[in-house]
Amino acid sequence: MHDWLAPDPVGLHAQARPDKLALVDLASGRRWTYRAFDRAIEQARAVLDALGLRPGDRLAAIARNSADLVIAQQACLRSGLIFTPLNWRLAAAELDAILADCTPALILADGSAAGFTAPAGARLMEVAAFAARYQTAAPGPRGPARNAGEPCVILYTSGTSGLPKGVILTPQTLFFTGVNFGVLGQVSAHSVFLAESPMFHVIGLVTSIWPALVQGGTVLVSSGFDPAITNARLADRALAITHYFCVPQMAQALRDAPGFAPETWSLAALFTGGGPNPPANIRWWLEHGVPMVDGYGMTEAGTILGMPLDPALIGAHAGAVGQAGPATAIRIIDEEGGDVPDNAAGEIIVKGPHITPGYWNRPKEHESAFTRDGWLRTGDIAVRDAEGFVTIVDRRKDMFISGGENVYPVEIESVLAEHPAVALAAVIGVPDPRWGEVGHAFILLAPGHEGSESELRAHCEARLARFKVPKHFRIVEDLPRTSTGKIRKNRLRESLVV
Ligand code: ATP
Ligand code: MG
Repeated sequence: MHDWLAPDPVGLHAQARPDKLALVDLASGRRWTYRAFDRAIEQARAVLDALGLRPGDRLAAIARNSADLVIAQQACLRSGLIFTPLNWRLAAAELDAILADCTPALILADGSAAGFTAPAGARLMEVAAFAARYQTAAPGPRGPARNAGEPCVILYTSGTSGLPKGVILTPQTLFFTGVNFGVLGQVSAHSVFLAESPMFHVIGLVTSIWPALVQGGTVLVSSGFDPAITNARLADRALAITHYFCVPQMAQALRDAPGFAPETWSLAALFTGGGPNPPANIRWWLEHGVPMVDGYGMTEAGTILGMPLDPALIGAHAGAVGQAGPATAIRIIDEEGGDVPDNAAGEIIVKGPHITPGYWNRPKEHESAFTRDGWLRTGDIAVRDAEGFVTIVDRRKDMFISGGENVYPVEIESVLAEHPAVALAAVIGVPDPRWGEVGHAFILLAPGHEGSESELRAHCEARLARFKVPKHFRIVEDLPRTSTGKIRKNRLRESLVV
């Protein structure tokens, strides 16, 4: 199907702007110009070849972010290997299940994971040992350019709604997420990205890196999120960071951490995505001088939609995730597959060159994920207004029906989040003899606050239609979350079944 060759922006910029700073490893201070980056990739290719890896083999990484992982990923792309970064925060048994699914030939690890067992046939190597080896290796002959549609990454989904699924990405999908985000986020050769979200997640591996590489900008790799350190880096004039992409939970942590001084930042915008970002939050940042630009994407598709970098539009459409990127076509459809009118809710489906060719080892999920004419079914409910701004309402699976009315928990959670005593709220639908289903709210209180059920109920009653007000409230000590902060509602449902 794809008869064009894999785009190789690093190779291009190594010729066009060889002395431009491409990559910095903030933890160690190592730096690479585009020329040096290009050479390091060739050296890493020589090492992987000497280790016996052949096209189609998987190279798993179970390690914190580093420039070495970025170099390994690019080397895989050029050699036809499949880079497979895994969530080192998972329990040993969870990692073992994913390793059994992707059966890597080589695992690069740095001791961050609590434990895992390398499956038969997998060789294990420390990231530091890999780095020491490629730095002194002689680059081999340049390989032939790969095909744009050939797998070069398997990225596992967050596992918010069930077991993580391996999503296949290709040079084409990576490049076009770079283009999509690049246009929406006004990325240029002058852009400096702080790549801090974990690289086992699409925001870390793709959105925080590829837009800069496509344009010949600079990527600063951080080994992980520490809000006080991030505040210092964002305020550092020498780093002059222009683009930082985080999940809403990280943005909240910056506000609460020492050294928070948004007036000193050189950011074009604070980019968020990956989960619902309450409108009150977006307005708060705007009032403090920072355009918070929310966007919508998923492992299967990288960047799909994004808000324009325009404070007036962000203020007027707080809560929206913006408009489709230039590579993307979207439709919002009803249960029968027909397009819904403006301002009506339906499932958002997507088409474009940045979308996965499919899941790894999961033919059934693959079949149900695409419509017959090739649109990706996101499983998310969205509304588009007359100006083309899209709002993500909720996941289709999380909607429930109370007294015949559709209820989207995210709306209730946003209202609860506005209450000063609430740090985090999660709502699920539970069976009810009278209404069919009703809302059950789980509330994590803000430190030092007390909130009573009657107070929270009154807060909801003043702001929501009656059928949306949860019937049950439960104050909890903790909420089950993915490593990117999304609430695992299936676990909450299970917690209610005794
Ligand atoms: P799994 O597929 O394993 O259940 P997941 O869907 O959370 O996990 P990701 O691919 O990391 O895995 O997340 C994509 C999903 O995150 C989207 O389908 C959508 O539900 C949600 N999402 C992403 N961006 C936004 C956003 N800006 N607002 C609301 N929800 C978002
Ligand atoms: Mg998903």
